[in-house]
This record gives sequence, structure tokens and C-alpha cells, in this order.
Amino acid sequence: MDCDTAKSKLFPYVDGELATELRDQVEAHLARCGACRRLVDFEVAFRETYVDRLRPDPAPERVREQVATLLPDLVHGQRAGRTQRWLKRLALGVGAALLVAIGLSAGVALQSHLGTRTTLAELTDAAVEQHQKLVRDLLPPDIKDVSPKAAEEWFRKRLAFNVSLPDLKTEGLRLLGGRISHLREVEVAALEYQVDGNNVSLFIIPEEAYRQLRLKDKPRFKVVSHRGYDVVIWRSQGAGYTLVSEIGDRACLVCHAPHEKLEPLPRPSAHL
Ligand SMILES: [Zn+2]
Repeated sequence: MDCDTAKSKLFPYVDGELATELRDQVEAHLARCGACRRLVDFEVAFRETYVDRLRPDPAPERVREQVATLLPDLVHGQRAGRTQRWLKRLALGVGAALLVAIGLSAGVALQSHLGTRTTLAELTDAAVEQHQKLVRDLLPPDIKDVSPKAAEEWFRKRLAFNVSLPDLKTEGLRLLGGRISHLREVEVAALEYQVDGNNVSLFIIPEEAYRQLRLKDKPRFKVVSHRGYDVVIWRSQGAGYTLVSEIGDRACLVCHAPHEKLEPLPRPSAHL
């Protein structure tokens, strides 16, 4: 088995969903491939620390109840005769359409359950990659040398979610610029800062994309070490935040003045 095949079986492997023969093949590969073993370790460590167990989505059940109350209303609330028969057919049609919609949304929910397994690792990886490009000027900023307020205004006109930027509270902290970027398929606001001469990138992602990561509420700040970079992930004011740097929790000066009391950051508990 090669690395590509092994990686494609990684998540079902971690979930214990592989048939014995395939599982043995994956384990034989892991025994001689450190890179794939690290991926498995990362996934396991991350799930234990930060990712909620999958829960059934309550939405479809709510919709089902609505259909149950809607149908009798439509059918019995009318007088007898041709109109009623017509309404009955209409009601059944509406009911059928709603049930199809429920099926679709349940399918979408299931898809997102399955699809989000990789998202946290992917988001971390994409954020680090973008940070490297921003630092090397491979991604030109859309805006440059502006105040946080002006940058907020600029993003608000162009993004569908709330971008709220911290004030510059610390000397030695500069907002270099910002751009609209993508982390995998998610449109994000990307901000580039310098803290005492060190580059720090801040990515603001829509709350919906953050929610789909299914992260636990605690610890509030999720800390990951990835390819030599320190990544901090959290949620605030209707958006998700991802901070990438090489200076550990000193990067938090982007949002917090030095005298502010921060809850202590957890040690990086996952490495990729
Ligand atoms: Zn491998």
C-alpha cells in the first residue's frame, strides 16, 4: 500500500470502520511509514482534545414535526367538495416535497458529518500555507497601511459575515495589510500583522464554517503546532479566528494588550 491509498483510508481506519484485511494493510503501511503514522496520531490527538463527538442534527426532526402539523391543517381545515379533493392532493404534494427536502437536508447533514472529519486538519494546514505565502509576499494584499477600523469597513462591504478587528493595543504591533483569501473552499478575511518584527497572520472565517469543525467549547483557545508554526483557533462575536505565527502565545498580542489577563493557553496538544 502506498501513502496516497493509506491516507485515503486514514479516517475510516481511525473510526475502526475498515474490514480486517484492509485494516491489516493500513497497519502494515503505518509500521514502516512515519509520515502516515504522524497523521494518524494527529487525528486521534485532535479528536480527543478538541472535537465533539458527532451528534445527530436536530433540524430534520423539527421539520418532520412541522410537516405532521401542517398536513392535517391543510386537509381538514377546508369544506367538502372538489376544492377539498384538490387541496388534499395539493397538501399531499406539498408534504411529499417537504419530505424530499427533509431527505435532502438529512443527506446534507450526513455529508457534513462525514465531510468535516478532515476539516480541522485541513484548515490548520491551509492557514499555515497561506501564512507562508503572505510572509513571502506571494499573495498580494488587497488593502495596505490602513487602520483596523478602515480594514473592518472594507471587509464588511465585501464579505457576508461579521469581520471585527481588534484595536492595536500594543507598541510594536502593526497591521501590515489584508486580503480576501480562501482556506480550502471557505472565503476568509486574511490579515497580516507584525509583532515586534515577527509576522503573524490572522484569518477570520464565517461562523458557519467554524461550527462545522465541531470543536468543543473548552478549552476556548485551541492550540496546534503544525510544520513548525503555532496555530491558535477560537470563536468570538459570530466568527471563527485562526492565528498563525512562530512566536507561540506572544502572537495573542494581536488581540490582547500585554497587561490583559488571558486564560492560560493550553500546551499544543496536537502536532502534524
Ligand atoms: Zn505513508
